[in-house]
Amino acid sequence: MVLEEARRPLRPAELPDPEPGAGELLLRVLACAVCRTDLHIFDGELDRPKLPLVLGHQIVAEVVGEDRRVGVPWLGSTDGECRYCIAGLENLCDAAQFTGYDRDGGYAELAVADERFCLELPAEYAAEEAAPLLCAGLIGYRALRFAGDAEALGLYGFGSSAHIIAQVARHEGRRVFAFTRPGDDEGQAFARSLGAEWAGGSDEAPPEELDAAIIFAPVGALVPIALNAVRKAGEVVCAGIHMSDIPSFPYELLWGERVVRSVANLTRRDGEEFLALAPQVPVRTEVETFRLEDANEALEQLRSGKIRGSAVLVP
Ligand SMILES: [Zn+2]
Ligand SMILES: [Zn+2]
Repeated sequence: MVLEEARRPLRPAELPDPEPGAGELLLRVLACAVCRTDLHIFDGELDRPKLPLVLGHQIVAEVVGEDRRVGVPWLGSTDGECRYCIAGLENLCDAAQFTGYDRDGGYAELAVADERFCLELPAEYAAEEAAPLLCAGLIGYRALRFAGDAEALGLYGFGSSAHIIAQVARHEGRRVFAFTRPGDDEGQAFARSLGAEWAGGSDEAPPEELDAAIIFAPVGALVPIALNAVRKAGEVVCAGIHMSDIPSFPYELLWGERVVRSVANLTRRDGEEFLALAPQVPVRTEVETFRLEDANEALEQLRSGKIRGSAVLVP
């Protein structure tokens, strides 16, 4: 399914089989989860994709000619030598290439990936259940680590990432407060079913002060709302790659050593740590599967908030 131009529906196309270069694997895609980032690329909000482009960066695949499965995440390659790579922050590499953005991704039957950036998958998960772990899970895990030892944790936007991270947070003994679109009773019930002790609309105040909050929804207006909900020295972590503009707000909301930070991409270490942790929790992913040729439908359902958990394409 090919993106030829922003905002134009993906087109089913028969492309030549991709040729793996040195150090790359040829992969048969078993499942590819749909990420909010795919929508941002589709909408032209992330505006430097290679075009035409095959989207998709939560790929579970079988290595062609071998009896093993790998996961392909958003971080597709780095230069390994810039100041960030050397400092253990390869997620910020100046020359990073991203799967389904700079390189063709997994909305396809075949893909290639740099073997050094492929991740080993826990055997406990079927392909379509494992796929959402690869970005929704990984980036959510990185965001959760930035929340430090926060006990009362707010999650703004209860989609693919939050439904996974709520389970990890509960496993770590945290208390989860989930915020959905106002009036989304089903989403709030879903959050409670995954261990949230309170769930409400993002226009509601939580019943008590939060120690930290993670914002998964791409809505800048949630930043001052979340700041207003966290205690002194509390952290507000923005986990998305894109957000609408943050409205101006009184300094008082930031005062008291409150912190706002973003989370960018992932490191391979995040991947290894999280994929080892997931089966111990055990994280259960809730997925809605779509046929590969229904990728446009999956994207639209994600946009309108109809997906419970994660949407996954299966070729
Ligand atoms: Zn680098
Ligand atoms: Zn993603």
